[in-house]
Amino acid sequence: MKDNVSKAVVIGSGFGGLALAIRLQSAGINTLLLEARDKPGGRAYVYEDEGFIFDAGPTVITDPSALEELFALSGRRLEDYVKLLPVSPFYRLCWEDGYSFDYVNDQMELERQIGMKSPADVAGYRRFLEYSKAVLQEGYLRLGHVPFPDFRSMARVAPQLIRLQSYRSVYGIVARFIRDGHLRQAFSFHSLLVGGNPFETSSIYSLIHALERRWGVFFPQGGTGALVRGMVQLFQDLGGEVRMNAPVDEIETTSNRVTAVRLRSGERIPCTLAASNADVVHTYERLLRDNALARRRAASLKKKRFSMSLFVIYFGLKGVREGLQHHTVLFGPRYRELLKDIFHGDALPEDFSLYLHAPTVTDPSLAPPGHSAYYVLAPVPHLGNADIDWEVEGPRYRDRILDYLEQRYIPDLKRDLVVSRIFTPFDFRDELGAHVGSAFSLEPVLWQSAYFRTHNKDEAIDGLYFVGAGTHPGAGIPGVVGSAKATAGVIVSEHAARSSA
Ligand SMILES: Cc1cc2nc3c(=O)[nH]c(=O)nc-3n(C[C@H](O)[C@H](O)[C@H](O)COP(=O)(O)OP(=O)(O)OC[C@H]3O[C@@H](n4cnc5c(N)ncnc54)[C@H](O)[C@@H]3O)c2cc1C
Repeated sequence: MKDNVSKAVVIGSGFGGLALAIRLQSAGINTLLLEARDKPGGRAYVYEDEGFIFDAGPTVITDPSALEELFALSGRRLEDYVKLLPVSPFYRLCWEDGYSFDYVNDQMELERQIGMKSPADVAGYRRFLEYSKAVLQEGYLRLGHVPFPDFRSMARVAPQLIRLQSYRSVYGIVARFIRDGHLRQAFSFHSLLVGGNPFETSSIYSLIHALERRWGVFFPQGGTGALVRGMVQLFQDLGGEVRMNAPVDEIETTSNRVTAVRLRSGERIPCTLAASNADVVHTYERLLRDNALARRRAASLKKKRFSMSLFVIYFGLKGVREGLQHHTVLFGPRYRELLKDIFHGDALPEDFSLYLHAPTVTDPSLAPPGHSAYYVLAPVPHLGNADIDWEVEGPRYRDRILDYLEQRYIPDLKRDLVVSRIFTPFDFRDELGAHVGSAFSLEPVLWQSAYFRTHNKDEAIDGLYFVGAGTHPGAGIPGVVGSAKATAGVIVSEHAARSSA
């Protein structure tokens, strides 16, 4: 066995890192998964406070088939590890003027609501759905899990991208089909779920609508954390090794070849293959600080545009609030202008739009009996744009948001508040190593997509690979699970070629 991969090391246990580790181990490559924090999941970390269980990040689980595929690789079944519960409506969308829209997976009910609001938009919505399905086919089902290693691979797909009008923005394409202002927001906000401003992100991201319609929206019984635990269990059942509290301090290279990873504890783990699920700037700038090529890559990455950050409040209440849905989007008074301030402004906007998560609507076990668990998040500018001292602003912003929720949506919130904690852009930066505290890594604009994103394999540093939100196709669970498929595909075929050499 010459020049074979003796051991693969995956750095970071986000959904991308976990999915890659499962794929490599399933392919017979001995894999070690190293995680800096005390629990796996990355942005899908879990907080447990006084009997409340708070999923820190992803809550809208889409495309279960991508997750099922990970288990099926070794003849196992997802449902033996975790149960996915369907959620309906997918989201309730609420505006300050009192209008609300239940975004469901039922064509007749959707058309009924659209027709009540704007009869002329029913036909437009049908055409939008057809468009979204076509983009799903091309942008996700065909290209969402293949690497773009060179410019030729990008040039090959250019005709389809032009045909699908990917040069337009998500909002631009929605506005071509739908006239009503509220409905335009209802069908364009989705790109925010992967860190994209609907007014600037490529219309390719309008595929999220068709993706949700095709498979539905789910929530794991026991919370997203249960899905993470199920994936860790699968990896271990396959013989993989996971280590928590194992921050990697350096990826060592000799003559641009990976030779080892070194932990902050000083332990050195020799390996010829390291795949980073950590932030892409953190990886090149910090973990490969002694490699001149990597330092150049970090410098060029830092010139790119990064997604906004998020401000999140996790809170538990005495009592159960009837009438709330599992997922609610609370649109503020401004849309386009607010998004401009969030993506380009240098200060915290006065107003906000919020996403409210109420998981105990679907799974009451996430709070003590007679209680309910929530999180509410507001997109905010990242630290590279807005120099906000979140130590000071965080508690103030929390109070403003909780006041707003109490006045409009959750009466007596503060009276019944049992626990709360916040997660600010500082935490994205310090806890997760996210460049400028971005919540979703590189912004998903066309010129930072596919070939123009961090490549799944570094062409010049042998044995260095990437997986996760900073790589193709990008953020969101389906995105990072797709990136794992792309990265694993490259590694496994190289491994096979070397084995037979
Ligand atoms: C609040 C929030 C809500 C979201 N909601 C949704 C949703 O509903 N649906 C959806 O699909 N997506 C959602 N997303 C997006 C989705 O969560 C992310 O895009 C995805 O989980 C990122 O996965 P990843 O593989 O890039 O890894 P990450 O989750 O970023 O994990 C990276 C891991 O690497 C570890 N690490 C970093 N540096 C080191 C080091 N030096 N050594 C060892 N380990 C290291 C980190 O500790 C972390 O565990 C949400 C994101 C956020 C923040």
